[in-house]
Amino acid sequence: METIIEEYSPGAVARAGEIIRRGGLVAFPTETVYGLGADAMKEDASSKIYAAKGRPSDNPLIVHIADMDSLNVISEDIPDAAYKLAQRYWPGPLTMIFRKKPIVPDMTTGGLNTVAVRMPDCPAALDIIRSGGGFVAAPSANTSGRPSPTCAEHVIEDLKGIIDMIVDGGPVSIGLESTIVDMTGKIPLILRPGYITEEDIRHVAGDVATDPGVLSAVSDKERPRAPGMKYRHYAPKASMVVVEGDNDRVVSYINGRIKELESEGKKCGVISSEDNKNSYICGIIKCAGARNRSDEVARNLYRILREFDKEDVAMILSESFNGGTGSTAVMNRLLKAAGHNIIRV
Ligand code: AMP
Ligand code: MG
Repeated sequence: METIIEEYSPGAVARAGEIIRRGGLVAFPTETVYGLGADAMKEDASSKIYAAKGRPSDNPLIVHIADMDSLNVISEDIPDAAYKLAQRYWPGPLTMIFRKKPIVPDMTTGGLNTVAVRMPDCPAALDIIRSGGGFVAAPSANTSGRPSPTCAEHVIEDLKGIIDMIVDGGPVSIGLESTIVDMTGKIPLILRPGYITEEDIRHVAGDVATDPGVLSAVSDKERPRAPGMKYRHYAPKASMVVVEGDNDRVVSYINGRIKELESEGKKCGVISSEDNKNSYICGIIKCAGARNRSDEVARNLYRILREFDKEDVAMILSESFNGGTGSTAVMNRLLKAAGHNIIRV
C-alpha cells in the first residue's frame, strides 16, 4: 500500500478525516506520542489497527474525542470526579476508563465492557478527530513491542507501506503515553503512570490509588489491570539493564562492565544523565536529560532506544532516573524496556 506522508495543514486534515471516515488508518501527532487512528465506531476499522501494529486483540484501544459532549455518547456512569478531572486536565495527557455504551464495538475495547477515553491537547490531533467523525481509536503508532513513536520519522520506520496516511506535526512535546485512570471503581485507580501524577489527581479528585502492578515486574498475583501493561512493551532489541545506587559507584560500574563487554567484541550503549555524560570512558553515550528533569528524560527516552536499535548495540546500560516529580512514569517505561533487569551497586 502507498502511504501518503504529509505535513499538518488544513488540506492534510481534510484528507486524513476522509480516510478515517471511510475506514482507513491515519497516524497523527498528539502531545504524548504519535497515534494510529481509525474510526472507533467501526468494527472493521478498529480491527485494522490491531493487524497493522501486530497488536494482540485483547489489548483495548483508547478512544480519542474532541469535545465533552462526545464523552456521553460512548460511556455511562460517569462519576463527578471524572468531570472534575476533565475540567482540569482535558484536553491533556489523561485517559479515563468508564462503562461503555453498546454503540462502541467490542473490537475497539478488546471485548471489555469498559471504554478508555482521552481528549488530546494537540491542535493537529483535535482537527483530525473532528474531521474523522469525532471518535478516533488511536493506540501508539508503532509496531507492537517497539518503543512508541515521538516523531513522524519513527512512524515511517514502523508503518510506511502498511497504513493509508501519516500526518507529520513535528516532534511531540511530552514523549510518554498518557496517564490511564480507571474511573469505574469507588476511587480512581491509576493503571498506567504518565505526565499527570497521582498527586495531580489527588489534588482534583481526592482519594486515588495506583495499581500495584505499575512498578513491579509482572507476576500472576499482581497482573496489571490495563491489559496492555502485561506485554513487554517499549522493548529495545538489545539486552538492557538499569543500574541504581550511589552516583560514583553507578558510573564506575557502567564503565567497568562496558570495558568487559567491549573486550568480548560487544557493542554497548549508555543512557546517561546530563550530570554524568562526561564521566563515561567507553561505549556509545546518549544523554537523556538532567537526572531530576523527568520531562526531559521522557521526551528523549524512546528516541534513544530506537537509535540504539539502529546502531545494533548488544547491551544498553542505563542510569536510574528515580526521584523528582513525574519520575514514576519514566521509571515505569525504563524498567519495562529493561524487562525489570536492575543492578544495585
Ligand atoms: P496505547 O494506546 O498503545 O497507549 O495503549 C492503550 C493502553 O490502554 C493499553 O495498555 C490498554 O490495555 C489500556 N486500556 C485501553 N482500554 C482499556 C480499558 N477499557 N480498561 C483497561 N485498560 C485499557
Ligand atoms: Mg502503545
